[in-house]
Amino acid sequence: MAQKKTRNRVKSARPDNTRRSSVVSKQTVKRSGRSAVKKKKLTRRQKRNLNVLIFVVSMAVLFVMIRAGISAVKFAREQENARREALIINEQQNSGTGPAGWELEGAPYIDVQLLTPNEYSRPQISMGQVNYIAIHYTANPGATAQANRNYFENLANTHETKVSSHFVVGLEGEVIQCIPTSEISYATNSRNVDSVSIECCHMDETGAFETATYQSVVKLTAWLCTRFGLTEENVIRHYDVTGKSCPKYYVDHPDAWEQMKADIAAQIQEDHILQENI
Ligand SMILES: [Zn+2]
Repeated sequence: MAQKKTRNRVKSARPDNTRRSSVVSKQTVKRSGRSAVKKKKLTRRQKRNLNVLIFVVSMAVLFVMIRAGISAVKFAREQENARREALIINEQQNSGTGPAGWELEGAPYIDVQLLTPNEYSRPQISMGQVNYIAIHYTANPGATAQANRNYFENLANTHETKVSSHFVVGLEGEVIQCIPTSEISYATNSRNVDSVSIECCHMDETGAFETATYQSVVKLTAWLCTRFGLTEENVIRHYDVTGKSCPKYYVDHPDAWEQMKADIAAQIQEDHILQENI
């Protein structure tokens, strides 16, 4: 009996144990199931965050790459422009035709300050044959040659208008070159394509040139005529192209214009003699 009892106890104990263990295992499953879902949810959130992070980083990388690309193109363009400018200056100096060489040929001293290429004042459009030298006045009493040159240069930023000149002659006779004569300037309307332009500074509203300005523009124009095989007959006023009162004083006083052309003709003769003796 005792054995039976024991067996029974054992027997009766078994289901208890089994029940407990099954409860425990169910709880464990329940708990582990919940944590798996939690884990899954967390992973999804993490994934979403990760995607956002990847997107933000990709955009940042893309932005940096685009900026770097733009900078590289800009840098390459600046390098190319600098190289071209250096070539022009080298060419002038190596062939003995820089400012010092030009003076020997009869030119006034020319301060070469070429404009930065830009579509508003130096579009770098090649000039074919030069047929005319066009004289202008700045219509800005008292302004210096440098101020006029800087105004042309600044058009690259202001985009105010399209205007420029190959040369500017100042109140004291100083000459600044803004554009190579192998390129057109924006000064003489329909004659931009085949004329070299000269802007002259003046002191007052009459537009009369100061003596120093007058002497420089005569020398510069004569020398340009010898360079391009022209005579005083190829020297024109802006007025002769468009009817605009430019250069004002020499439109208002045709005799003064005729005198200037005569002075240019005399200077051309002098320059030819000078150049034959170089
Ligand atoms: Zn003009």
